[in-house]
Formats: sequence, C-alpha cells, structure tokens
Amino acid sequence: MSRVNLLGLDLSALTEFVATLDEKPFRARQLARWIHQHGASSFDAMTDLAKSLRGKLAQRAEIVAPVVLRDTIAPDGTRKWLLDVGAGDAVETVFIPEQGRGTLCVSTQAGCAMGCVFCATGAQGFSRNLTTAEIIGQLWLAEHLLRQPSGDRAISNVVLMGMGEPLQNLDAVVPALRLMVDDHGYGLSRRRVTVSTSGLVRQMDKLAALCPVALAVSLHAPNDALRDQLVPLNRKHPLRDLMAACRRYLRVAPRDFITFEYVMLDGINDRDEHARELIALVADVPCKFNLIPFNPFPGSTLRRSSPQRIRAFAQILAEAGIVTTVRRTRGEEIDAACGQLAGAVQDRTRRRLRADRLPPLVAAA
Ligand code: SAH
Ligand code: SF4
Repeated sequence: MSRVNLLGLDLSALTEFVATLDEKPFRARQLARWIHQHGASSFDAMTDLAKSLRGKLAQRAEIVAPVVLRDTIAPDGTRKWLLDVGAGDAVETVFIPEQGRGTLCVSTQAGCAMGCVFCATGAQGFSRNLTTAEIIGQLWLAEHLLRQPSGDRAISNVVLMGMGEPLQNLDAVVPALRLMVDDHGYGLSRRRVTVSTSGLVRQMDKLAALCPVALAVSLHAPNDALRDQLVPLNRKHPLRDLMAACRRYLRVAPRDFITFEYVMLDGINDRDEHARELIALVADVPCKFNLIPFNPFPGSTLRRSSPQRIRAFAQILAEAGIVTTVRRTRGEEIDAACGQLAGAVQDRTRRRLRADRLPPLVAAA
C-alpha cells in the first residue's frame, strides 16, 4: 500500500485520515501541530502520541517535501530554492526578508499555461499542477531552513506569486491556503496570505467562497486592446468582467481593497494617458496599485520603464487618491525577481539536467 503524504492534507482531510486509523479527531490537530508548527518529518519525534499510533502512522503515512536541488542567496538576503518535483520538473520558491517581516513567494504550477508575454514562466510553457503537498512543502521546507535559533518564525507573509497561475489549480491551492491560515497549521492571518491572479473570474468567485485571503490582480493594461496582447487570458475575460469579479470578491475579502499589479514596460503601457485611463477603469473598485518594474529574462525583447517614467506614472495615480507603491526589485542577481522564475527550470527541463550536474548547494551569488 502506498503511503499518504500528510503534507497534502488540510485539517478536515487529516481528520478523515485519522478516522481510518480508528483515532479521534483531536489526533488530527496534534498531528498538524507536529508537522506544521514543529516541522516534524518523523513520527518517532511525536512524543505525545501513543507508540501504537506512531507505528500505524509509520506504516500508512509519510511527511515528504520536495528535494532542494539548489539554494542561492543574493547579496540583499533574498534566498531562492530550486526544488525537484519529479519527472524533470523543478519549481522555485523565494524568501524575501524585509524590515520587520519575511515574505515567502510560493509556486503553484510547474510552468504556466497563460502565456503572458512579459513573463519567464509563461515563456516556459506548462508542465503540470503542483499537489497540495508540493505547495505546502515549500512553506514547510522554508520554515525549517530559516528557523531562528530563538525559535522565532522568519516567515510572516506568504504570496502565491511564484511560478504558475494559482487559480488554475484551485483544487490543490485551497487546502494549502487552509493550512496556512489554520491555527493548527501555520496560523497566518488571512490578510498576510495573498493569492495573485492574472484574472480568472469564475475561479475568483470560487476562492471567495472556499477560502478568502488577500487578492492581487495582475492588471498590466488599462484597456482591452492592450491587455489582450499582454495577458492573452483577457480575450476570454475582458476588463469589464474582471472589474465586476473584483467588486464581488471584496464583499468577503479579509482586506478592503484589491491590489492591482502593473508591470512597467517601456513605451508599451507606461504613458500618462494609460495612468489616466486606469483611474477611470478602477473608479468603483477600492484598490491599491503596485507598479512592478519589468524584470528582463533571456529571450525577451521588452524593456523596463525608466525610474523617472515610473515615478511620473505613480504620481498621476497617487494624485487621484490611489495608494501606489513601486515594488523594489529584489533578488535580481539570482533571477529571483518577479517574473524571472523559471529560467533555471526551463534550462533544466530542456536539457534534462540531473541533480548531480547542478551547481553545489548554497552558492552565494
Ligand atoms: N500567475 C499569477 C502569479 C504569478 S506572477 C499572476 O500572474 O498574477 C506574479 C507577478 O509577477 C504578476 O503580477 C506578474 O504579472 C508579474 N510578472 C510576471 N513577469 C514579470 C516580469 N518579467 N517582470 C515583472 N513582473 C512580472
Ligand atoms: Fe502565468 Fe502569471 Fe506568468 Fe502570466 S504572469 S504567464 S499568469 S505566471
């Protein structure tokens, strides 16, 4: 009989699982705390469980996270792990330390099928959805690898902004989100867990119903003609529908605004009139804007807007009363910045690199 990977079970699935072992529901909560709060990977360590239960668990279950193929730290402290998820696929997870908080950027798919023209993951194509165990495994591993000697947690925020479109993989993403916000799991506030989507409107409604967390929407253009080109999904779900979905989401969201992400592309979507068009577009959607300077990747001919252009664009939005931030580029030296994830994977899948041919662990960039 194959073993069940407990990293893939949220509290309700874990409760069903312990019932199959003739155990009471509170055992599920105990197990969850051992796994997600203490980072246990062996049942032997779970000293408050009866030996007989530990024996049953060892036979029927396991706790297995993806294997780290490469661990890279940038000069600014940003850390990126390349994780083997089998069959030639590897995904990336990025930790971004900041004053007073630490953000983990998690992947949800190996590749992405949405084909946004400015994105390295999109250029790579799609391999498969990650499982809940592979998604939670990224957080479980990072917690373990970043654990402070004081016992303090390094990760205060999780963003599903790594590789992939999270809302295309809701079946696996929702149990992972539930574990992130569950008091017996990672205990994160719903406001500190953010899903980023390119705009799958029906799935936004589903997320609202199943596990509302903070929402970021990748907007990138103020009108359908331009967005159709940059984000091909727009041809199916135009801006009108997307704005309506944002308003519906806000009825249950843990925050009272949507974050609109907007990648700044030189000469393409960064003119003053684009900013003015945006103001009209989002007039009835409470929101904040996060402008992301475009991060180049091999094979892309697009260019980043100049800092002056980005400042002028931000100023127009701000003067209209929209809180606007410019995302500071982090981890660029190790290709860990927004939209750069995949370079390593693309190479790896193409050349079918094996783990023993990858650079050594913890290569300081
Ligand atoms: N698929 C989801 C989440 C992953 S992408 C989404 O698209 O929202 C996370 C963010 O990085 C998105 O806002 C995305 O548009 C942005 N991004 C993608 N490629 C980029 C690049 N080359 N430079 C800067 N940001 C990029
Ligand atoms: Fe996929 Fe997001 Fe990249 Fe678009 S920006 S291709 S949705 S990962």
